[in-house]
Amino acid sequence: MLGVVKVGRGKGLVELREVEEPAPGPGEVKIRISAAAICGSDLHIWRDAHPYWPPVVLGHEFSGTVSALGEGVTGYVVGDRVVSETSTGSCGDCFLCRSGNRHICPDKRAAGIGRDGAFADYVVMPAGLLHRIPDGLSLEEAALSEPTAIAVHAVMERAGVRAGESVVITGPGPIGLLCLQVARASGAGPMVVGGTPADLPLRLPVATATGADAVVNVAEEDLVERVMAATGGVGADLAIETSGSPAAVELLPHLVRRLGRIGVLGVTGRPAVQFPWDVAVFKGLEVQFSFSSRHTSWITGLRLLGSGRVRARPLISMEVPLQRWQEAFEAQAEGRAIKSLLVPGASGKGLS
Ligand SMILES: [Zn+2]
Ligand SMILES: [Zn+2]
Repeated sequence: MLGVVKVGRGKGLVELREVEEPAPGPGEVKIRISAAAICGSDLHIWRDAHPYWPPVVLGHEFSGTVSALGEGVTGYVVGDRVVSETSTGSCGDCFLCRSGNRHICPDKRAAGIGRDGAFADYVVMPAGLLHRIPDGLSLEEAALSEPTAIAVHAVMERAGVRAGESVVITGPGPIGLLCLQVARASGAGPMVVGGTPADLPLRLPVATATGADAVVNVAEEDLVERVMAATGGVGADLAIETSGSPAAVELLPHLVRRLGRIGVLGVTGRPAVQFPWDVAVFKGLEVQFSFSSRHTSWITGLRLLGSGRVRARPLISMEVPLQRWQEAFEAQAEGRAIKSLLVPGASGKGLS
């Protein structure tokens, strides 16, 4: 079968290659990939700016149908529509695994990063990581289950968003846009989204279309002023940082009210960044960092997608076959696509 493979360590070094079709071992399920979405971390691996274990088939955000069952697997039949958590390799025995947090186990080697992933015709995953796709949710939309679970974990489970809260989101990338919808689905509002001029053509209009009450181009307007205007001069109850921009990080304590909360997902790619520590102390802020997603995040995320309270479709800008992976990577890296889907075995549709 064909796979998009990070073939070695260094910048670039991603190729479409013939790779061996995987077979499910005991407790595993072989899944025929329907659609796989490109993640920011795939782009970082492409540029050698994220951990990975080559050679490895990339791709961890996907949907598919069950095509074969390994020994001992029950509860699934061939043809079932499924998505999968990515916490492969977790030991099952450490403090984190045993306390229900296998997503952050030190031994984790996520699919598409530390073991072969979904930019291919087939992937094999442990049955215990699978979730059924709700009826009525398309396979293309279901390919965004993983980033939706990330948003649920950060906004609901970590930052604890509540109905009626004012929220500001710094960074309208795919994760920021899903955080916006998850917060909106939780009853939060008003919602303010800050972005850069690069976000003007695609991302900020989608923010407006999916629930933002105000969008702010930070190159032209003062985000703190806009948040103050939206919150009666008090500041937001909750800020969610999804840009990884050091300038945004430095702004966070000024965006929220006294005793407000900050939820962080953005990775800066730097050894250290500036943060106005004393402002945060004197305001009595709470800060919640968030990494990956829990089993519960997937259950909630799939319910939100299945009920239409979170819509993945507005984020999907292009669908192309595996052969055109580079075009899709570039479109997403350059902001010409919010989310690109790789569709194995297809000629590609809905091309932008
Ligand atoms: Zn991802
Ligand atoms: Zn563990």
